[in-house]
Amino acid sequence: MICTVKDKCGGCSFQGIEYAEQLKKKQEDIQKLLGKFGKVSPILGMENPCNYRNKVHHAFGTDRKGNVISGSYAEGTHRIIQTDQCMLEDAKSQEIIRTVRSMLKSFKIQVYEEDKGYGLLRHVLVRRGFSTGEIMVVLITASPVFPSKNNFVKALRQKHPEITTVVQNINDRKTSMVLGQRSVTLYGPGFIKDTLCGLSFRISPDSFYQVNPVQTERLYSTAIDFAGLTGKETVIDAYCGIGTIGLCASKYAGKVIGVELNRNAVGDAILNCKANKISNARFYQGDAGDFMSQMAARKEKADVVFMDPPRSGSTEKFMASAVRLGPSRIVYVSCGPDTLARDLKFLTSKGYRVEKIQPVDMFPFTGHVETVVLLSKLCPEERRIPVTIELSEVDISAREKKATYPQIKEWVMNHYNLKVSSLYIAQVKEKYGIKEAENYNVGKEGHRVPKCPPDKEKAITAALKNFEMID
Ligand code: SAH
Repeated sequence: MICTVKDKCGGCSFQGIEYAEQLKKKQEDIQKLLGKFGKVSPILGMENPCNYRNKVHHAFGTDRKGNVISGSYAEGTHRIIQTDQCMLEDAKSQEIIRTVRSMLKSFKIQVYEEDKGYGLLRHVLVRRGFSTGEIMVVLITASPVFPSKNNFVKALRQKHPEITTVVQNINDRKTSMVLGQRSVTLYGPGFIKDTLCGLSFRISPDSFYQVNPVQTERLYSTAIDFAGLTGKETVIDAYCGIGTIGLCASKYAGKVIGVELNRNAVGDAILNCKANKISNARFYQGDAGDFMSQMAARKEKADVVFMDPPRSGSTEKFMASAVRLGPSRIVYVSCGPDTLARDLKFLTSKGYRVEKIQPVDMFPFTGHVETVVLLSKLCPEERRIPVTIELSEVDISAREKKATYPQIKEWVMNHYNLKVSSLYIAQVKEKYGIKEAENYNVGKEGHRVPKCPPDKEKAITAALKNFEMID
């Protein structure tokens, strides 16, 4: 079947190409990008590569005649292309969206006109738990005022009794983001559940959840298999979303520590942990890079780091800290092969070697590829590579840069309950002969600057010792 709007929509760039040929192309792409790091295993394709998306999103608008339309944005634009027969999206979810569209007129609901900033309904999002059958409908409105919403929901449920929850999400900003900050549950629990790798997961409207559940199980089992867990390891699940990878890995690990930026997703992860009666996992909200660097500053250790960053990849801050935690294995799950190649270059320059590369086809008919990479830590002999270094390249100040000012301040606060300024830290550092690159006025002659009091000096000295900046 060839989609009638394929050229206008641009959502699936591999339309009209045999599935086996699509897989071959993806394999070649990954080989080209990542082959230099190691052997690329044959891509794991799908048996039935259609209607695999469990999340369907349509934007609403009007055509030139003023008729209400809904569908995807044409690639790179905000022009809506009516996509009623999309071969990637779940068929039931598409049916529900058509019903919502057909009900708008009788309920006098105006669709939002982006250019005029006028109207109510902006988007609809339907998520279906493939294994549970639970369905969530999210109506994204430009204003909190949704006239006759109860009757609307009632009528929608009469037509689709399979809907288990309906949520109104308010997005009143001029933005290309679909969801706004605030959600109001109109019917049901406000989330759906799905099962993956034998565990139950709760999914809120804005939490990340892999869109292809069939392949997700294969992706996760590959990642967990690569981790080589024996039941004792301390495992980090970074960029953990609702905790799926970490929780699926928890029964094979000693303990799991998850970190994720999105507050609601972390909330889901904590509840998922409880609901599955898992006692060896903890989840934290925050930037993964900050979290890892704080762990590294506290000299904590990890045996395995799973990292599954967004398409933009990870950061040097994250990766440098991950390396400091000294895991024997890093399992990198990536949906962006270019950023993966960039990040592998960094990690392989820091004492890790790529052992396995496994592409997984999570997005048939599109050019996207997901890849799982296993990196292992080189032992010291393997790290000794013969190189010639010019003296000018040797960074003799490396020792002095070990901890940043905020890290020293944080350490002093945690251990001595004292607040210290950058000036005081600079004064103590100078006392130990650590030269400052920053322009702190550490009290040269002629200047009247406050002098670090003895208790603070003692605390800062202890911090410098802790970070091995002085002996
Ligand atoms: N591992 C999860 C989620 C992967 S998607 C799964 O398989 O479902 C990437 C996740 O990274 C998203 O949940 C996103 O909210 C989160 N994220 C993005 N930037 C982040 C950052 N700087 N720190 C921590 N998490 C981040």
